Amino acid sequence: MSNAEKLLRELVALPSVNPELMPPGDARAGELRVAEFLAATAAAGGLEVELAPVLPGRPNLLARLAPAGRVRRRLLLAPHSDTVGEPSMSDDYFRPVKRHGRLHGRGACDTKGCVAAMLSALLAVARAGARPGETEIVLAVLADEEAQQLGSRRLIAEGFKADFAVVGEPTCLKVVTAHKGAVRFTLETVGRAAHGARPELGRNAIHAMARAVDLIETRYAQLLRRRRHPLLGCPTINVGWIQGGVQANTVPDRCQIKIDRRTIPGESSGSVRAELESLLRGNGLKVRFCPSAAERSCKPMETDPDLPWAQSLRRLAGQRAPAGVNYFSDASILSHGGIPTVIFGPGDIAQAHTADEWISIGSLERGAALLETFLRSLP
Ligand SMILES: [Zn+2]
Repeated sequence: MSNAEKLLRELVALPSVNPELMPPGDARAGELRVAEFLAATAAAGGLEVELAPVLPGRPNLLARLAPAGRVRRRLLLAPHSDTVGEPSMSDDYFRPVKRHGRLHGRGACDTKGCVAAMLSALLAVARAGARPGETEIVLAVLADEEAQQLGSRRLIAEGFKADFAVVGEPTCLKVVTAHKGAVRFTLETVGRAAHGARPELGRNAIHAMARAVDLIETRYAQLLRRRRHPLLGCPTINVGWIQGGVQANTVPDRCQIKIDRRTIPGESSGSVRAELESLLRGNGLKVRFCPSAAERSCKPMETDPDLPWAQSLRRLAGQRAPAGVNYFSDASILSHGGIPTVIFGPGDIAQAHTADEWISIGSLERGAALLETFLRSLP
């Protein structure tokens, strides 16, 4: 069994479900177990380790390989330690099972496979005495990617700097240099309540919202289909939730919707809000943006695919054209924090967040080998 596979099995067996997705006190929640295990493994392999607190009991794990000479550059490898999960899941999710060349288990694909590939590559370089001459390599296994990206936000807030970062996510071993962002809004219409038998005395908030939803899903969606990013395609919008009214015989005075808008580079939460406001107002609709609603937005990111380290990783991966993905990740936070960032890792995002999550062992081992070659090539 390869080192990467052995490491991945051990990681899957250590539950690290994001605590936001579990009831308080569920023993399977939290990143601490995984961070402590990785710290011990990295220290035993000669790396310098640090558990950097993000929230109580939820640290980032940093493992460094110093260069042979003075530090003149820094490479960051940044997968995450948390996984998705739900309260009703059985403990079988945390028993790694190998079948037909695949390893099954929670987090095998998203993104413990990347953690295993990155750490085993780094340990192989350390073991072989093949450390770079002037590049410090830092593996930061980040907490809370699946909820609010608090791990990467903390790293940037503390002033961490690097010349290049590789965020670990399952990209089928493609070097991804762009991803979409996401903006969420809660919108509200306000009417006037009246008895259902005298609707002409009230003002129906649901009717106003129905017109707003129709405009958003037709006219606005059409406008978005005319905008196109070469790697990411068109931005999108989805009205995912609606609530309003009290009962059938009352004219509703309030209706709310929640919107998920996926953005491309050049769009921001402010520009999206301004567009929606002008569309709705222009059609005579008074719609309020609820205050706390823009939380959890994530900006789109784009890195020059021709940066030297991006190019050399692409060459190793045998990839000619640059690539983008729809989902967002810690790459957004790192890249807007000033670190040119790409996303790269074994496994396919199609298997992430699914009930039967798995990763191909072939992809895992190829990823570890590619990363090792890349690390050995650093100056
Ligand atoms: Zn992930």
